Amino acid sequence: LCISECDIIKMLDEVLILEDDSLRKGNIRLVREFGEDVPPVQGDVQKLRQAVINLIDNARQAMPEGGSLVVRAYSTVLRGDRAAAVEIEDTGGGIPVTILRNIFNPFFTTRKQGTGLGLSIVHRILEHHRGEIEVQNTELGARFVLRLPHTSPSC
Ligand code: ADP
Repeated sequence: LCISECDIIKMLDEVLILEDDSLRKGNIRLVREFGEDVPPVQGDVQKLRQAVINLIDNARQAMPEGGSLVVRAYSTVLRGDRAAAVEIEDTGGGIPVTILRNIFNPFFTTRKQGTGLGLSIVHRILEHHRGEIEVQNTELGARFVLRLPHTSPSC
C-alpha cells in the first residue's frame, strides 16, 4: 500500500475544493483548523481522499437543514510515534449510543437510501494504513477522529 508520501493538508484542501459548492448549497459553514506541523503520511492518497469524502458525505447527510462542518488536521502520537490526525466534526445531532458499535459494519445503515458501506470502507482504509478511527459525540453532533502514522512498517 505504500505508494507515496501524502501531504495531509494538501489532500484535505483538494477534497474541500471539490466539496465547497455542495456544502455552500446545503447551508453548511466550513471551518478549517489546520496545524502547522502535520507530518506527511505514507500511503495511498486516493484512498485517504476517499475516506475523508465519505465522512464529509455522512456529515452533510446528518445536516439536511445546514450547520457547521469543522475539518481539523494536527500532529499527534500513535503507538509512540509521530502521526497525523484528521477530524471531521458536524452539528448534525450525533449518533445514538445504541447504534455506535454497529456503524462500521458493512451494510449497517439507518437511511432509507443508505448502503451502509461508507464507514466500513473508511474503516478498512484506516486499517490498511495502520491507522485508527474513533467516533465521538459532541454537544451538537458527531466527530470522527482519524490517526495515521507518519511511517508505515511496509515502506
Ligand atoms: P450510509 O451512509 O449508507 O448509511 P455509512 O456506513 O456511511 O452508511 O453510515 C452508517 C450509519 O452511521 C448511517 O446510516 C448513520 O446512521 C450513521 N452515521 C454515520 N455518520 C454519521 C454522522 N456524521 N452523524 C450521524 N450519524 C451518522
